[in-house]
Amino acid sequence: MEVIKSLKDLRAVRGAYQGITGLVPTMGYLHKGHTSLVEISRQHCEHTIVSLFVNPTQFGEGEDYESYPRDTERDLAICDAAGVDVVFAPPVEAVYMPDASVTVVESALSREMCGVSRPHHFGGVCTVVAKLFNMVQPDIAVFGQKDAQQLAIIRRMVRDLNFPVKVMAGPIIREADGLAMSSRNAYLSDEERQRALSLSKGLFAVMSRYAAGDRHAATLRGTMQEALDQAGVEAEYIDIRDANNLHAIEDLITGPTLVAVAATVGRTRLIDNIVLGTRLGHEPEDVA
Ligand code: AMP
Repeated sequence: MEVIKSLKDLRAVRGAYQGITGLVPTMGYLHKGHTSLVEISRQHCEHTIVSLFVNPTQFGEGEDYESYPRDTERDLAICDAAGVDVVFAPPVEAVYMPDASVTVVESALSREMCGVSRPHHFGGVCTVVAKLFNMVQPDIAVFGQKDAQQLAIIRRMVRDLNFPVKVMAGPIIREADGLAMSSRNAYLSDEERQRALSLSKGLFAVMSRYAAGDRHAATLRGTMQEALDQAGVEAEYIDIRDANNLHAIEDLITGPTLVAVAATVGRTRLIDNIVLGTRLGHEPEDVA
């Protein structure tokens, strides 16, 4: 496995690749959610590149950019064991010019859900992913369904800006007790971690109600709310949306539906979701 820090070195290695090349963008502090995406890339690509980059432009004022967990040595060992060919781990100066003045902004899907409390977050995400696509020039890029809104926005960016990249998605990988894996789970105390379980518990309860035939957005939302209330967790949002275009569903669920929740437990902001009425989210989704 090669570890590359400069764009020049990346271009040299990438230029020599003939076969299909996959990119898994990450912010490091890797867990099994990340390695599951590496696995998907390896299944579809001859070469797999993982980027490790804590992207400053997607953090807002007062958010956790400085304290975001970092452990490069451990990440490299995980990538090596997962069969990654190249880790691209550039310093911030190699990614952003000090006077950079061009960004990528998605202006519809980014305004809702997480975009309400994090108005500049998805602009930072789109900009860094566009830059990574241009730097790495992958044929395929693999993202997690864990960040469902991010996935929808990246697909929109790829569509609207004609990036020659196929976006694939991997399902949410969870701890044995249901908690969605996240680098930020490292912030949780034992007591907070117990309360954090209310997100996945609520989503699973919603899934059971749906399986039992309930198609009403309001009662499904109520089921989720109840699980959070029981744990004393306040939701930032509980949203029920069309899984493809993220349009809000107020009444009856008909097609593939995203149930997404965001909540802060202690000082840790957590997100989780399920997709009802489709296998999307349970299998890598292949989108042309
Ligand atoms: P991050 O390092 O948190 O920016 O995440 C990098 C990629 O891993 C994103 O595409 C995430 O959606 C994905 N990811 C993070 N957590 C999980 C998880 N528990 N299951 C599947 N994918 C995940």
